[in-house]
Amino acid sequence: MYYDVIIIGGGPAGLNAALNFGRGMKQTLVIDANNPRNRVTNESHSYLTQDGVKPTEFKRKAKADVTKYKDVTYLEERVEKVEKIDKGFEVKTQFQTFNARQVLVATGLREQSPDIANFNDFYGQTVFYCPWCDGYEMRNKKLAVIYSGEMMVHMVKLLSNFSQDLVVFTNGEKDILQEDKVLLDKKGVNIYTEPIVRLVGNDGQLKGIELNDEQIISVEGAFARMYWDTQFDFLDRLNIIRDEDGKFETDMFGKTSVEGLYVAGETKDNFAGQLLDSATNGGMVAKMMMMQQIEEDF
Ligand SMILES: Cc1cc2nc3c(=O)[nH]c(=O)nc-3n(C[C@H](O)[C@H](O)[C@H](O)COP(=O)(O)OP(=O)(O)OC[C@H]3O[C@@H](n4cnc5c(N)ncnc54)[C@H](O)[C@@H]3O)c2cc1C
Repeated sequence: MYYDVIIIGGGPAGLNAALNFGRGMKQTLVIDANNPRNRVTNESHSYLTQDGVKPTEFKRKAKADVTKYKDVTYLEERVEKVEKIDKGFEVKTQFQTFNARQVLVATGLREQSPDIANFNDFYGQTVFYCPWCDGYEMRNKKLAVIYSGEMMVHMVKLLSNFSQDLVVFTNGEKDILQEDKVLLDKKGVNIYTEPIVRLVGNDGQLKGIELNDEQIISVEGAFARMYWDTQFDFLDRLNIIRDEDGKFETDMFGKTSVEGLYVAGETKDNFAGQLLDSATNGGMVAKMMMMQQIEEDF
């Protein structure tokens, strides 16, 4: 089948796009590796009517909404290659090849955690990165802020909304601006610059942070700096223009420099947001993609 659109990625951006394409009666294939960033956490917050929902339950409901439209097919596979062909695109997974007039990339972000050996044992349970997502649940606890550089003070300020008991770990970065030291000292926030050896605790419950000098500093949770990009291998064959930060150059509706190729959600923003932001953006981009098809066919 020649699809009107192939959506790569079935997170909130991809599935809300699919919902709109389904309602627009476009032949739509969603190809989703089903391995979203938020798989590590038990609850998602800040989505009206879904506050506190388990990510797998949110996805189950979203898929049910989308696949009730007869023109939408959901396939759980990983896309390995996308190529531009005469009439649109060829999209390859490990097992199959599909063709489509347009492609929407909604594969979220590639995420890398800080260089701490057992970080993933705690990530999503008592260690987070997004205060607006999980700060409320961690309120009034003793929190580690695993940050250095220019965002360190910003994160301390933001987290001070949720807890007055904060301690900074720069994980080996000794170079701290004097004005930052003075400010944090005035606010009673200690800074530890020794490298972190490991996180201490059980069953995802953080109890302390062990430093290179063998000190263990007790904490009850942490917010850490994560690293994100959108350098997906499957797009290597397409010459998509990016800006100096690696963000895809698009118009406000996700249209890239490659005719017929669009991006949505965190892939478009090149930055971590929230479920609702991605869903909203996916819906908007889908409507613009359909309008493009309608204009061409009218
Ligand atoms: C620990 C943690 C806690 C969070 N808590 C909250 C919260 O409380 N509230 C909130 O609103 N947000 C929260 N978020 C953020 C939220 O998960 C993201 O904002 C949202 O999932 C982004 O949606 P998206 O559709 O852009 O990308 P994603 O949800 O990441 O979806 C991308 C999809 O594309 C798939 N994919 C990737 N590559 C391929 C490929 N090659 N082929 C096919 N499919 C592919 C992935 O497997 C995934 O299913 C949290 C995130 C994390 C990590």
